[in-house]
Amino acid sequence: MSVEVQIPVALAKHAGNQESLMLNGNSVREALDSLMKTYPTLKTHLLNEKGELRHFVNIYVNDQDIRHGEQMKTPLKAGDVLIIVPSIAGGSTIKTESTELSPKEIQRYSRHLIMPEVGLEGQKKLKAAKILCVGAGGLGSPLAMYLAAAGVGTLGIVEFDVVDYSNLQRQLLHDTDRVGKPKLQSAMDRLRAINPEVKLVGYETRLTSDNVLDIMKNYDIVIDGTDNFPTRYLVNDACVLLKKPNIYGSIFRFEGQASVFDSLKGPCYRCLYPEPPPPGLVPSCAEGGVLGILPGIIGTIQATEAIKIIIGKGETLVGRLLLFNALKMQFREMKLRKDDSCPICGKNPTITKLIDYEKFCGLTRGETSQVEEKKMDSSVEITATELKELWDKNKKLKVVDVRNPEEYEICRIEGASLIPLSEIGSRLGELNKNDQIVLHCHHGMRSLRALEVLKKAGFQNVKSLSGGIDAWSIEIDPSIPRY
Ligand SMILES: [Zn+2]
Repeated sequence: MSVEVQIPVALAKHAGNQESLMLNGNSVREALDSLMKTYPTLKTHLLNEKGELRHFVNIYVNDQDIRHGEQMKTPLKAGDVLIIVPSIAGGSTIKTESTELSPKEIQRYSRHLIMPEVGLEGQKKLKAAKILCVGAGGLGSPLAMYLAAAGVGTLGIVEFDVVDYSNLQRQLLHDTDRVGKPKLQSAMDRLRAINPEVKLVGYETRLTSDNVLDIMKNYDIVIDGTDNFPTRYLVNDACVLLKKPNIYGSIFRFEGQASVFDSLKGPCYRCLYPEPPPPGLVPSCAEGGVLGILPGIIGTIQATEAIKIIIGKGETLVGRLLLFNALKMQFREMKLRKDDSCPICGKNPTITKLIDYEKFCGLTRGETSQVEEKKMDSSVEITATELKELWDKNKKLKVVDVRNPEEYEICRIEGASLIPLSEIGSRLGELNKNDQIVLHCHHGMRSLRALEVLKKAGFQNVKSLSGGIDAWSIEIDPSIPRY
C-alpha cells in the first residue's frame, strides 16, 4: 500500500530533508520499517532499545492517534497519511501541525496538489497564509470566495455596510434574502459554507487611521477591494508603513485596473497617483454604474496575485498596471516606476505616520459614500416634504434633475426637467435667474455640485433636494422605483 509519511521539521534532516514522502506498508509498523530502512539514523529517534515507539513520539494515521487504536499494528490503506509528531519543548510543533494537511484537505485541494507549481508545499504555504480583504462588496466577493476555496488559512474581512438590493447585480457573496442585513455576517456565512477549513476573522468597522495598523499587522497580504479614495490612500499608506504587499483593483463601468503595490520591491499607489482627484471629478460606481461582471474579472485577478505571492511562483503585477476594457475585450499593461520623490515610499518621505484621509481627499467626514447619511445644510438644502409643500404653493417652481439620461429613463419626478450635471454649465441659458429653482439628483450629492455652478453664475434662489429622488420616493411618491 502506498501511503504518505509526514516527517516533522525537527526530524527532516534525518530523512534527506524531506518533510513528506511516499512509502509502502500495510501497517504502521511496516511503513516505519520501510522508512527506517531507507533512513537508518531515524531509528534511534523513533524507537527505544526494545524496538518500541518512544514515548515522546506520537503517530497519527489520518489525524487519528494510533495509541487509541491498534497502535503499531494499525492497518494502512492506499492514500492514508501517516504523521509523526514528536513532543518538542516549546511551541514549534503547533506551527508544524497546523500547516499539515488533513486527509480531507488533501482531497479538497487535490487539483492544486498535483500541480508542480503548487504541490503539497505550496498548499501548506496557502494554509499558513493570512490575508486581509478590505471590503466584502464587488471586488471582495470573488476574491474572498476564491481565496477561501483555495485554502488560504486565515481570511480577515473588513466590512461595515449592509446588503442593498443594488449590490446583488455583482456582489455574489450576498443572497437576495440578506438585503438589509450586515454584509460582514452574510460574507462570513457564505465563505464558511464554501470552505469550513478556513479561519475567518471579521471586522465590522470602517477602516480608519486609528485602527488600520492594529488590524493589518497580523496579516501577510492586504487586498484592497474598496471603492473610495480615502480608504484607498489609507490602505496604501498603512501597507507601506507596515511593509506589506497591497493588491490593488478598481472598477468603473466597463473598465478595470489591477496592480500589486509592494514598496519593498516596487512602486506604491502614491507613486502612481500622488494625490486624489478633487471630490466629484471622478464618478463613483454608485454614480456612474459598473458592469456586474467586471468586479468578477478584476477581483479574480487580485486573488490570483495573492496566491502567486504566497506560493512564490510566477511574475506578479509589481511595477505593472494592468488595464482591462470589457467592451474591447482587451488587456493592456503599463510599466510603473517607483517614484524617488514619493511622499511615503520615496527616498525622503514626508509622510511617516497616518494622516486624516478624508481631509486629504478634500472630503468632510461622512461624504465618502453617496448613500451615506450626512448632515443637511438648510441654507442650501431642502427636504422632500418641504419641496412638496413649496411646489404645491408655487406651481411655477422650477425643478431640475441633474442626473444622467439613463437614470432619468429609470424614474423621474413628474414635472422635473433634465439637465445633467456635466452639461449644466453650458445650458444655464435654459434657466431663469428670477425663478425659484430646486435641483435634484439621485442621493443629493451631484445636485449640491450643480448648485455651486448656479450660485457662481449669479443664481440666488436655488436649493438642492436633500437625499435626491431617493428621498422623494421614500417620503412623497413610493411609486417611484428606488435604484
Ligand atoms: Zn510610493
